[in-house]
Amino acid sequence: MFSVQHLVTDLQNLGLRSGVTLLVHSTWPSSAAPLPQTLLDALLTVLGPTGTLMVPTFTYTTVDSPSPTTTPTENGTQYLPGSVFRIRSTPADSRIVGPLPELVRTRPKARRSRHPVFSFAAIGPNAPLLTHTAPFHFPFGSNSPLAHLHRLNGELLLLNTDQRSNLLLHLAEVWAEVPYLLSTLRVKVGQERWRTMRGKPGCTEGFVKIEPLLRQARLIRYGTIGSMPAQRMNVQAVVSMAVALLKGAPDALLCDSPNCTFCQFARRITQKPQPLPSAPHFELL
Ligand SMILES: [Zn+2]
Repeated sequence: MFSVQHLVTDLQNLGLRSGVTLLVHSTWPSSAAPLPQTLLDALLTVLGPTGTLMVPTFTYTTVDSPSPTTTPTENGTQYLPGSVFRIRSTPADSRIVGPLPELVRTRPKARRSRHPVFSFAAIGPNAPLLTHTAPFHFPFGSNSPLAHLHRLNGELLLLNTDQRSNLLLHLAEVWAEVPYLLSTLRVKVGQERWRTMRGKPGCTEGFVKIEPLLRQARLIRYGTIGSMPAQRMNVQAVVSMAVALLKGAPDALLCDSPNCTFCQFARRITQKPQPLPSAPHFELL
């Protein structure tokens, strides 16, 4: 079993320092991994009292489709679609974001952004700034917690996952104004009230295509935290490269699967942008 000190050393070897504002996106392997609580203790130890930790606390229970997966969590919790988001009590969906975010969200001084699907929780001095706005449409775009993280010159740690979990690339898609962000999501906002969210983030399978570019530019630091592979990167550097890439080639981060409805549609309208489908209520799941 890995100790806090072991993980602290691993995080420091990865270049993490105190005072940083850090977004962690993690998935958890089934065995031989550090305990989530041990990792949280190690992260807070390295970041220190001047650092801030942010995690995604997404809640797919609030949408009318139980996507992207319907499997129950390890502890048997059922995620039934169609719940109303409660900022203080709706748990982070650990099927999607792993067990770490719920530990952060339930800390006494944690702050959480108010988006009913794509919320973030944070602890540390920058937590209020990171979470004080949560645009309902385009939840990863301007004025979102990710945009605040960018302004604060934060860092991203991907743990036991890869660029497919790099949420910053959704921010880059918005800022590069790629033409394919037309998907919507029906979100429950009251007992009998639903609202259609525009700017639903799409397929991320093609996000791996940016990794060789980031690696070549020496923008990723690779390491291991306990038994888990890790990538650490600077938010502004990654977003700058991704925006430049997407402005030059808006289809650059789409996947090549013939079965991916989203990317096939996105590639079509990217290559032939006129005429666009009749938004705003165009559905693409
Ligand atoms: Zn795709």
